[in-house]
Amino acid sequence: MKVLLAGYNVDADVLSELTAGQNRQDVTPETLSASYARISRDPRPIDELRRAARAEVEKARKSNSNIIFKMGHHSVAEHAVFNFDLIDISRLALEEIEKFRLCSYTEKSQRYQKLEGSFITPEEVRGKGYEGRFKEIIEKQNKFYAEMVEKGIEPEDARYITPLCTLGQVGMTINARNLELLVRRFASSGLAEVREIGKTMFDLAANIAPSIILFTAANDFDQKTYPELRAYFRGKWERKRRVSRRTTLVDYTKNADNKLVAALLHASSQISYQNCLRTVKDMKKHERETAVMIACRHMEFFDSTLREFEHIGLTFDLVMSSGCFGQMKRHRIATITSQQYEPELGVTIPPKIRGTGDEGRFKEICKETENVYREIAKTDQRAAEYVLTGAHKKRVLMTVNARELYHISRLREDPHAQWEIQELSAEMTKVAKEVMPLTMMLIGGKDKYLEIYKKVYGELPKVAPPK
Ligand SMILES: Cc1cc2nc3c(=O)[nH]c(=O)nc-3n(C[C@H](O)[C@H](O)[C@H](O)COP(=O)(O)OP(=O)(O)OC[C@H]3O[C@@H](n4cnc5c(N)ncnc54)[C@H](O)[C@@H]3O)c2cc1C
Repeated sequence: MKVLLAGYNVDADVLSELTAGQNRQDVTPETLSASYARISRDPRPIDELRRAARAEVEKARKSNSNIIFKMGHHSVAEHAVFNFDLIDISRLALEEIEKFRLCSYTEKSQRYQKLEGSFITPEEVRGKGYEGRFKEIIEKQNKFYAEMVEKGIEPEDARYITPLCTLGQVGMTINARNLELLVRRFASSGLAEVREIGKTMFDLAANIAPSIILFTAANDFDQKTYPELRAYFRGKWERKRRVSRRTTLVDYTKNADNKLVAALLHASSQISYQNCLRTVKDMKKHERETAVMIACRHMEFFDSTLREFEHIGLTFDLVMSSGCFGQMKRHRIATITSQQYEPELGVTIPPKIRGTGDEGRFKEICKETENVYREIAKTDQRAAEYVLTGAHKKRVLMTVNARELYHISRLREDPHAQWEIQELSAEMTKVAKEVMPLTMMLIGGKDKYLEIYKKVYGELPKVAPPK
């Protein structure tokens, strides 16, 4: 056996210092992807392939381009990884960035940090008749925020009045394959800020690794598909029913509990899934329960449920504030699609703001915000969203498997989580438990894990979650 450390990501400043004054071509992750690409056809050991790629970088680049472009073997680009500091990016653009789910993010928390009122005036607004009103209402929102914080309201509640043009920052780790997708999508974005982010990221990465980020141009698929869908549905099919409940379970795996037990049986036997399903039907209720209890007996609060839980799906129709969406969208295993923000859905007013007696002013600022939104929306509905606040809502369609719902519940029903996402995830698990009680037997916030486990097993798990 031979296990080698082939590479790791290092701060770009360190790399610059190490290579200063040298004309080295091989300081690029392209040599890694090129050598890994050759593994499938070249019998030499990988470390030799890496040496060869480093010795002839131009050849490695050509080989990358051929393999990715001609053969469509895009996964080789996943071996090249980049880190980006994305600084002073609007919350609206962050929503676009974090749609790329095979990436890692750590973002400035607007719960834990006090905001200083910095915001972007988007290109779509600059120089337009409504620029003045845009800035005026943003100043008003930020002033209210500062006042609330002054009054002792936590930033996590005060931020509900701050706009989607508020600036944030995120550290992002992305492989070249995802970067290519991001650059291409962003080239077609309706938002100038997003287009600029994509172009800048491309320029930075292409400088280092020109051969692995290839399909980057704006295109009809990315530019026209949603507008054409909207045009098709508008009027005739979009029946206006504005009011929605916050949480509706619209679809789920029928007979989920039986299917879970069948999947567990399948993983633990040599019989077909069809046969497993038939067998499970013959099992008694307590026998099915025992199977799930065995599957979870050694599970601690930090463990995921077994992968077999992924065969069980749930689709939720949700309505949430942009503040809440900012958190929910981070769950990368979930399938999340969402609409544009819709002022007619109303606003989420944090209970603590209600408690100060400033609810009226909060609502007034939201109303004024919506007037500016409508004015901008007449010419640019997408850019109009920049003015909306953390309190404004959108509809989100979210499909999760039972394993991911467990994960979301552990993190988000826990008291460390923000109150709106706590409430929302508690509603999601409540309805899930109703339709698949056995599958959801141990679901709940991390803080409740001991209690839930004890109820099922009559004893505590080995490890207690930290308080
Ligand atoms: C109390 C609290 C405070 C938070 N504060 C911040 C904050 O200040 N800043 C911030 O940026 N975020 C913050 N978050 C968000 C948090 O960091 C996660 O991004 C979010 O909760 C999504 O969870 P996840 O990454 O564990 O899993 P998901 O994306 O839901 O994925 C589920 C599981 O799949 C696996 N997985 C998914 N993707 C990968 C991957 N790329 N590599 C390895 N494993 C993967 C992991 O096992 C993961 O647990 C906070 C979350 C909580 C609950």
